[in-house]
Amino acid sequence: LTVLGIESSCDDTAAAVIRHAPPESPQILSSIVWGQTELHAGFGGVVPEIAARAHAEKLDIAVEEALAKAGVTLADLDAVAVTAGPGLIGGVLSGVVLARGIAAATGLPLFGVNHLAGHALTPRLTDGISFPYLMLLVSGGHCQFLLVAGADRFTRLGGTIDDAPGEAFDKVAKLLALPQPGGPSVEAAAREGNPKRFALPRPLLDRPGCDMSFSGLKTAVLRTRDALVTEHGGLRAHDRADLCASFQAAVADLLAEKARRALALYMADAPAQPVFAVAGGVAANQSLRGALEAVAQQAGAAFLAPPLALCTDNAAMIAWAGIEQMRAGTPIPPDFAARPRWPLDTDAAPLLGSGK
Ligand code: ATP
Ligand code: FE
Repeated sequence: LTVLGIESSCDDTAAAVIRHAPPESPQILSSIVWGQTELHAGFGGVVPEIAARAHAEKLDIAVEEALAKAGVTLADLDAVAVTAGPGLIGGVLSGVVLARGIAAATGLPLFGVNHLAGHALTPRLTDGISFPYLMLLVSGGHCQFLLVAGADRFTRLGGTIDDAPGEAFDKVAKLLALPQPGGPSVEAAAREGNPKRFALPRPLLDRPGCDMSFSGLKTAVLRTRDALVTEHGGLRAHDRADLCASFQAAVADLLAEKARRALALYMADAPAQPVFAVAGGVAANQSLRGALEAVAQQAGAAFLAPPLALCTDNAAMIAWAGIEQMRAGTPIPPDFAARPRWPLDTDAAPLLGSGK
């Protein structure tokens, strides 16, 4: 199968071609990702209108490039897969409209893929692991534990009830006058700091279940910063480093404890080859990754973190999800809606449907 993937749900314009002829491993023939960081730089966040316009302007060029780089034409494709949500609706629509056009012109089947399913199925693209596996999706917009039992079978075990950790890293960086994106700069500062210096809260740590909360942590960083500034007339470099390290340690504790519980639920069903996989930009953090890996080992599960370029937003994961759904025999609805919200939990809501 050769499938074209299209992704435009946030601030990356992406197109990719994947070929899979089992028993060979899947091949990423091309993966174009055009970020929009500079377009949104002055606004302190992604501006939906600007993102939608940039996607509309560039998406068809990205598709052309992805096909050219892969050395294929539309005639070589077996299907088209496009992110149909969740995300910024203007951008999602740009992708869906283009994909519909291609499908109409070629007669190819069109899959409307859940962006989160793309992230969640990536470990099968990169490492060919078997179902069921446990997944932690941890990025700028998401934080959830998923039990992945099939290409269209996901169970959400728990997740953040407020901010995502990536968002918390970005806000903490802003509070401490560190550059954006906050994750890498807070991690770099934390390397020089003492993680035990400030006793920051661990919200919901003792509560049963796998739900998490990160917004109180950010408020605690704000208060600590203000106290330091009042005391010393400014933020000294080593204070900043200690605060970053203490914040990162709190995030690590929270993720590790909840991962322990998610793993206990997952391991209770005795999977043959247990795997705990992480994806999302925050999984780039060495210290968080180390904490999660240790918990996986204790539970007796293999730990897996796909290469970063496939952990952050891309279209290869969307093309792959299309291939998975095709193989799983997921019905192709004649029409599907672009959806700003779309929980990835087959127990809670139908994965496919009329968009309601
Ligand atoms: P989505 O949530 O829809 O996947 P996103 O663009 O917000 O989209 P990603 O691209 O997966 O998410 O990740 C970006 C986030 O990851 C940012 O919030 C960034 O600060 C965070 N991040 C990147 N590197 C690190 C790091 N080393 N430590 C902690 N956080 C990091
Ligand atoms: Fe994403």
